[in-house]
Amino acid sequence: MKESREFILKADDLPNKWYNIIPDLPEPLPPPKDPPEGYSRVDDLPNMLIHECLKQEMSDQRWIPIPEGIRELYLAAGRPRPLFRAKNLEEKLGTPAKLFYKSEFFSPTGSHKVNTALAQAYYAKQEGFERLTTETGAGQWGNALAYAASLNDLDCTIFWVRAVYRWKEQRLKFMQMYGADVYASPSKKTEFGKKLYKENPNHNGSLGIAISEGLEEAKKDPKAVYCLGSVLNHVMVHQSIIGLETKTQMELAGTYPDIVISCLGGGSNFGGIAIPFMHDVLKKKTEIKFIASQSKAAPNLQGEYKYDFADHAEMTPMLKMYSLGHQVTMVPIRGDGLRYHGCSPILSLLRHHGYIDTVAYPEDEKYVFERAREFVQAEGFLPAPESAYSIACAIDEAIKCKEENEEKVVLFNVSGHGFMDVDGYAEILGLKKQPERA
Ligand SMILES: *Cc1c(COP(=O)(O)O)cnc(C)c1O
Repeated sequence: MKESREFILKADDLPNKWYNIIPDLPEPLPPPKDPPEGYSRVDDLPNMLIHECLKQEMSDQRWIPIPEGIRELYLAAGRPRPLFRAKNLEEKLGTPAKLFYKSEFFSPTGSHKVNTALAQAYYAKQEGFERLTTETGAGQWGNALAYAASLNDLDCTIFWVRAVYRWKEQRLKFMQMYGADVYASPSKKTEFGKKLYKENPNHNGSLGIAISEGLEEAKKDPKAVYCLGSVLNHVMVHQSIIGLETKTQMELAGTYPDIVISCLGGGSNFGGIAIPFMHDVLKKKTEIKFIASQSKAAPNLQGEYKYDFADHAEMTPMLKMYSLGHQVTMVPIRGDGLRYHGCSPILSLLRHHGYIDTVAYPEDEKYVFERAREFVQAEGFLPAPESAYSIACAIDEAIKCKEENEEKVVLFNVSGHGFMDVDGYAEILGLKKQPERA
């Protein structure tokens, strides 16, 4: 019989619990901390986050039931998502490795971010909030939250890193289709934004700045609550749905990964696919090599493991994480979702204990986008620029397997689609309109 290329779960197979790795970590997770001076950000947390999310943030419960209402939303968003065997790519590369990829690109707004956006919007609605505020970098998180707000009958205010706001016009219109209110950040809407805007109206912005604006905006309005799309523990919990589905699908495929790869900005899609497998490594002593693929523009896993703020204006508590410094400036890249100064505390701790390897690709993105082009031409799906980093790393590993004639099983996550990012690819790869053909 021909080997299957696609591994599909039915609605009934949709997990009914998320996995929380906190109780299984090799040491207790260092808690959020206050800076030596100023007011207590830790005491302020209940005013900052959705109550249920804060509860999950601190939870040491290993399995967290997914409310039926959120399972319905996941089904409506097209979960469970298929796992594919990249047979064409394997053949093209001539590698003995077996390549599998998870299709988070099959998403209403284009990325895995909907997995936590739907949960957060659902809880916010239950707790009586009427409006969500947030930041976005690449635009995928803002778009996912705009969608989730709309399905849960909530308003949504988004602060979008200006450097990206300027060029992703279609993404902006997509957010507006859901009824979201979108500002380029730094904006004139908040006190913090105004200050930076006055200094430089063309300020490129950063995720750290946009987070500060989202927090300030929510603080002004008791009916509004702030949502964060990555980094935090409760986001890792929600994203575990990716890896939980994938584990069942690898069983269907009759195999198990030697290597698990994904791109990493704040860590939510990497954590999503990796953490349920990390459970096996920690508890059942299976051996898996985990590789987080990053950009040299923001190689936060090569930074320092220390307490740092999650935002530019120092409104958040300090988190123990790998960080490049919360006020560092980073060059813009097309895979903008990878441009964040810090990595999730959970993943940082696992890296600190040697469980996660990392690679960082050059800022010009040529190498990475060439690998994405190979993937497109073999497999047909157009990845998000961020997901191209996952693909590049998987191809590199597949080529190593070829050189060493090793039949490893390589699992990678494709976190989003690139339907709104073709201009970025075109620019880097030099695709042009050819006037003589018009
Ligand atoms: C946001 C985003 C990322 C990076 O964020 P993580 O939290 O590290 O996953 C990667 N890929 C896509 C498609 C994204 O939207």
